[in-house]
Amino acid sequence: PVPEGYEPKSEASLAAYLSGVSAVAAHLGGAAGDWRVREVGDGNLNLVFIVEGPAGGVAVKQALPYVRLVGESWPLPLSRAHFEQMALATEAQHAPGLVPDILHYDQTLALIVMELLQPHIIMRQGMIKAVRYPGFVEAITTFMAGTLFGTSDLALTAEEKKAAMAEFCGNTALCKITEDLIFTEPYRIAENNRWTTPQLDGIAREFREDAALKVAVSRLKLKFLSEAQALIHGDLHTGSVMVTEDDTRVIDPEFAFYGPMGFDIGAVIANLLINYFSQDGHATPEDPRESYQDWVLAATEGVWTGFRAKFLALWRNGATGDAYPAALFADTAGAEALKAEQEAYMDRLFTDSVGFAAAKMIRRILGLAHNIDLEWIEDLDRRAACETRCLRLARDMMVNRANYPTIEAVTAAARKMR
Ligand code: ADP
Ligand code: MG
Ligand code: MG
Ligand code: MG
Repeated sequence: PVPEGYEPKSEASLAAYLSGVSAVAAHLGGAAGDWRVREVGDGNLNLVFIVEGPAGGVAVKQALPYVRLVGESWPLPLSRAHFEQMALATEAQHAPGLVPDILHYDQTLALIVMELLQPHIIMRQGMIKAVRYPGFVEAITTFMAGTLFGTSDLALTAEEKKAAMAEFCGNTALCKITEDLIFTEPYRIAENNRWTTPQLDGIAREFREDAALKVAVSRLKLKFLSEAQALIHGDLHTGSVMVTEDDTRVIDPEFAFYGPMGFDIGAVIANLLINYFSQDGHATPEDPRESYQDWVLAATEGVWTGFRAKFLALWRNGATGDAYPAALFADTAGAEALKAEQEAYMDRLFTDSVGFAAAKMIRRILGLAHNIDLEWIEDLDRRAACETRCLRLARDMMVNRANYPTIEAVTAAARKMR
């Protein structure tokens, strides 16, 4: 049910509303009549407007009571805006400078006014054109290490952690989207599914009949349902990253909840690997993409190695949480054992991340929401060839996870697929 007072804003009605929000009006400068408003939402769920005034600009994101991609037949609660602004605030605390600032939040309208990221573009768009982002690995690993460590039981007391979990517990509808679209539907006949047809009909059927794969993805689903390790972003693909050559920001945390850390790390790895495989479909004799593919795989390696180092550094210097009580590890043998346990913890997290990455790669090819990295390859045979390589690697990553003890094992396998 839509609350009293809610209405979706339009390009025509937004300026009048914003003129009543003094902080926003002051930021834009001039008066409502001077402001240029454009709807730019390219996501699957929400409205996004860019508003520019003589003194500055803002981005305005408003939830709709349904899924934008599908329409009113698929209702979705407006409360996702509430969870998004809470997540943005928590992320700003643990990863300062890496998310847009919030200027205003209107609970009734499910509307967030935030810093306009300009001249940033969506990272995925740049990657399709083979643009390198030298600051990306540094920024995304700082973001993930800061947010995941800082909201975990390694940093928080049990009381703090449970209070924070309670604040995000209600984001069930968004979690359900993930549970269905990522962990379930690609592995069965479902109305939402689509794939490059007829080229992938055979492999789609093969996956639906692959019992080992269905057990593996269900094990990951159980982890997603039950492991409240940290506040995760929940939708950390390259379409949720806005970049310039020297600035990187993470947007769109409306799926945030306390879940398994490997889900975010895996999302980043998956979307880099999808882009890597898609490059074979974009390459031309004049524009070969091999060296860009090398950059993408180097970035993939950097994501894990950088994250691991930063997370461990935070743990060593800021273990203020109730897990692994310092009093138990104060002696020499204890300190050594804790160090070994920290390494083992990171190994387990890597294994999770490989599995979640695989789930993300598969859903983007056989499920509802696809990636333009692949979708923009017009020649369907060529696209299907890229998609098949990506699916084959993902299947092996998910079922034979012992084959992927290191990120270098993942990137080497990606290279060998071609
Ligand atoms: P959705 O949840 O519907 O996917 P997003 O938060 O991803 O919405 O935003 C959709 C698009 O709006 C982004 O891809 C980007 O182009 C634009 N956008 C979102 N936030 C900002 C911002 N703060 N500054 C500039 N553009 C933005
Ligand atoms: Mg988005
Ligand atoms: Mg497709
Ligand atoms: Mg979103």
